[in-house]
Amino acid sequence: GILENKVAIVTGAGSGIGLAIAETYAKEGAKVIVSDINEEHGKQAVEKIKSAGGEASFVKADTSKAEEVEALVKSTVELYGRLDIACNNAGIGGEQELTGNYSLDSWRKVLSVNLDGVFYGCKYELEQMDKNGGGVIVNIASIHGTVAAPLSSAYTSAKHAVVGLTKNIGAEYGQKNIRCNSVGPAYIETPLLENTSGDMKEALIAKHPMGRLGKPQEVAELVLFLSSDKSSFMTGGYYLVDGGYTAI
Ligand code: NAD
Repeated sequence: GILENKVAIVTGAGSGIGLAIAETYAKEGAKVIVSDINEEHGKQAVEKIKSAGGEASFVKADTSKAEEVEALVKSTVELYGRLDIACNNAGIGGEQELTGNYSLDSWRKVLSVNLDGVFYGCKYELEQMDKNGGGVIVNIASIHGTVAAPLSSAYTSAKHAVVGLTKNIGAEYGQKNIRCNSVGPAYIETPLLENTSGDMKEALIAKHPMGRLGKPQEVAELVLFLSSDKSSFMTGGYYLVDGGYTAI
């Protein structure tokens, strides 16, 4: 595999896109730290990876808590000796409400997971990668890192900020052998969209020129490319995997 002997962290790896990324990393030879706030799903993911012949361990972390993310990186080094790749994927959708009615608590909650959590991840991952002479970070943003998601101001704001944070890291770490890019998926079939009603789903599908939603594996393929040496001259960038959503 193209990630043979690499050590990788994936946050929010118990479900959806993160699970597909963790499985893909493992299939390509990486030792994967599956991290999630949901212990049951995280452990199931590890079992799935192991029964497919991969190497993985579960480390619980709530990415909105700096000390838990710091401990996650520390556990990774204790378990596998180093850190080469990190995918900061954990995220939530949050309340759907007009900006003028958006509750302060919901705003804080979405920003704490979708932005603070990504910053904490990057901060502690960068510290460790710098120690071991290099590494690669992929942050999962969204198409809403560049276009609006009406009724989800907090989500749009956090995802735009992740794109900006990623640019800054690209600019700062270019000469330290650490690359960092963000990914912008459109709507992907995952449990995050489970509560979307039939009519709303049809309306969502209609926004994608390809006439369907994406699959977690279609995001994982881009993340794999950005995590591997095949993307060796790419940093600070934002890459869409959106079935044409932002083209119209
Ligand atoms: P999902 O709900 O299927 O999975 C998210 C996982 O993150 C869950 O296992 C959950 O337990 C975990 N998680 C939630 N809060 C956490 C926290 N504080 N700490 C640690 N783990 C936490 O969602 P998904 O669709 O796979 O989304 C993954 C990422 O992709 C998110 O950042 C999301 O914003 C982004 N994204 C999703 C879509 C989509 O349409 N599904 C589109 C664009 C971007």
